[in-house]
Amino acid sequence: MREPIIVRSIADLRAVINVWRREGRRIGLVPTMGALHEGHLSLVRLARTHSDRVIASLFVNPKQFAAHEDLDRYPRDEAGDAAKLASAGCDLLFAPQPAEMYPAGFATAVSVSGVSDDLEGAMRPHFFGGVATVVAKLLLQCLPDTAVFGEKDYQQLLVIRRLVRDLDIPVAIIAGPTVREPDGLAMSSRNAYLSPSERSAAARMNVILKRAVADLERGGEIAAIEHAAKLALDEAGFDPIDYVAVRDAEDLSALGARVDRPARILAAAWLGATRLIDNFPVLKRPAPGNDA
Ligand code: AMP
Repeated sequence: MREPIIVRSIADLRAVINVWRREGRRIGLVPTMGALHEGHLSLVRLARTHSDRVIASLFVNPKQFAAHEDLDRYPRDEAGDAAKLASAGCDLLFAPQPAEMYPAGFATAVSVSGVSDDLEGAMRPHFFGGVATVVAKLLLQCLPDTAVFGEKDYQQLLVIRRLVRDLDIPVAIIAGPTVREPDGLAMSSRNAYLSPSERSAAARMNVILKRAVADLERGGEIAAIEHAAKLALDEAGFDPIDYVAVRDAEDLSALGARVDRPARILAAAWLGATRLIDNFPVLKRPAPGNDA
């Protein structure tokens, strides 16, 4: 397969998109920070099923990293990414420099309240503002028909759905399922940071969360199951554990004592210097007396 065209300026990006629009093509966008893995490529393939032309963006967005976070050591491999994107059916790689996205004098921030406030938002207060700002820019730069995001970053997906609705951005947001390693570890560019012993401990997170899902679906108490999952993560060597939370699947609001509607269990915890996140759906239990 042909390698994607690599474009670095917004003007060049729009010139290519204008040609595609004149040809009547449907356009899909997959925003990424690069260091691509099978999870990202699955989103490109998903975008392909909805679109005639697929754009992947590669931009390690400084606005979503705090000063103490891993911006400088975030893995970067543009040539490798371009080759992988070719095999997944991507037509254009948009890889701007920070000065193209945030030129001198840049002064606008997009902030989504409510769904951003808790969990990742509480642990990383700058994070969703940076994500919302860059995603709003990318959507307005490309004006795609569809944009694809991973369920791996579940809260981010909900923030972006809210952003698009609230700002009337005419794009359909499509969610792609989390792609996992054979032992169930959610693929992540940050998995490259893990030492061999951390890598084997990392796989415990998905096992612990899946066990919690089974307990929740059997009608167990949310607080007790969250607590047990935290203890199990602690025993597996995760430290600190930022959160394990069971929330409403649509807006991440707190539930009552037990799961009585579609929910999600979400977790974030550290192994050494690497922060891992994961989440799973918790299916709706039939309401009592309603199980016809
Ligand atoms: P990132 O490069 O980590 O910012 O992620 C770019 C996009 O890929 C986001 O929409 C992520 O949710 C998605 N993504 C990351 N990891 C996975 C995965 N393991 N499976 C599916 N999508 C993923």
